Amino acid sequence: MVRTFDVIVLGVGGMGSASCFELARRGRRVLGLEQFPLVHARGSSHGHTRIIRTAYSEHPDYVPLLRRAFTLWYALEQRTGRHLLTGCPCLNIGPVNGELVTGVRASADRHGLAVEDLTARDIASRFPFQFEDGYEGVLEQAAGFLYVEDCVRAHIDAAVAIGAEIHPEERVQNWTATPGRVSVTTDREIYHAAKLVVTAGAWATTILADLRIPLTVMRQVLLWFDVGCPSGDFRRDCFPIFIADVPGGPFYGLPAIDSYGLKVARHYGAPHLPDPTRVDWNLVPDDEVVVKSFLNLHVPEHTGKMTKGQVCMYTLTPDKHFVIDVHPHHAQVVIAGGFSGHGFKFAPVVGEILADLAESGRTDHSIELFRANRFTT
Ligand SMILES: Cc1cc2nc3c(=O)[nH]c(=O)nc-3n(C[C@H](O)[C@H](O)[C@H](O)COP(=O)(O)OP(=O)(O)OC[C@H]3O[C@@H](n4cnc5c(N)ncnc54)[C@H](O)[C@@H]3O)c2cc1C
Repeated sequence: MVRTFDVIVLGVGGMGSASCFELARRGRRVLGLEQFPLVHARGSSHGHTRIIRTAYSEHPDYVPLLRRAFTLWYALEQRTGRHLLTGCPCLNIGPVNGELVTGVRASADRHGLAVEDLTARDIASRFPFQFEDGYEGVLEQAAGFLYVEDCVRAHIDAAVAIGAEIHPEERVQNWTATPGRVSVTTDREIYHAAKLVVTAGAWATTILADLRIPLTVMRQVLLWFDVGCPSGDFRRDCFPIFIADVPGGPFYGLPAIDSYGLKVARHYGAPHLPDPTRVDWNLVPDDEVVVKSFLNLHVPEHTGKMTKGQVCMYTLTPDKHFVIDVHPHHAQVVIAGGFSGHGFKFAPVVGEILADLAESGRTDHSIELFRANRFTT
């Protein structure tokens, strides 16, 4: 007998775990299918921490979603009794009136958010950074970081605790949709459901290939650097999260919160790949060279020894805005992907939107930026 669910969630990473939880919370019979062991390091939701911030340089329309995301992360902490989000200011640094600082100020102005403008000299007097006079900073207190693997685990555990079924190491081979029903075939079984939610991360490049959304995959590297232990300068009570728009970058980093030290990475800047099978999961010497050159120029006090590195993947759209929509050809299928290297912080609100779309085909959240047909019409 084919087992039947209200909703099947294809891919239980950052967005899929949040969707499983939200659908189960609404009383739906949910099946989550994940090709790898749960909370793995072969997708986009690993690497210890993810930045969350509010004055969003990418577009002011993200701000209401961010406010909701903060609320939902704190609600998940309360429900599970786990610490998931640590508050920490975020310092955006870029050329005077450049794209990054202008974007932060535009969101702050539109939504009445508190930010502080800093000159290059202010930055150097308050933090161990070195930037020339042509740079400026915008500091925001309403920011922090999420413990990414703990967040995925919390959503999965919370979903299972209220009845969701989540299967690790079960790969979806294909799915079909007919009016009123979807049929999902895995490497173990066939399942039926009224609705399908596709949250396949980088694998959307193949799973949703027929939609011709121009998604690409980008290898990204996270590195940690020793700062001398214990280091006053780089602890989270005196060193901010930072995003620095500099030539060869942008680069971003987080304070030293454990013995691995300062976490620093380049944002984007690597070749666009057609799908996740092309990603090299090994670290290469050049990975360190790129980040070290940034640190040597702009964070000269760091002591330099690399302590850890991890490879991860971005899935990019051409405009770097997400895709969240009802499938253009199948009303019973909902899709979310192309999170373009800045999606994790939104996971619980994406879960809420996907649950709305799966239940009624509409949502009160504003998702006009994320429509699937914007690249094809
Ligand atoms: C290095 C790095 C740093 C980042 N920093 C930030 C940050 O600071 N702040 C922020 O907000 N965002 C950040 N991001 C982006 C964010 O992490 C991603 O946007 C988000 O994790 C994407 O989640 P996802 O659910 O789409 O993908 P994933 O978490 O990868 O989940 C997709 C899942 O689908 C599964 N799957 C795929 N195909 C199948 C199949 N056929 N059958 C079964 N399962 C399948 C995969 O195995 C995977 O588990 C960063 C990303 C990276 C890589």
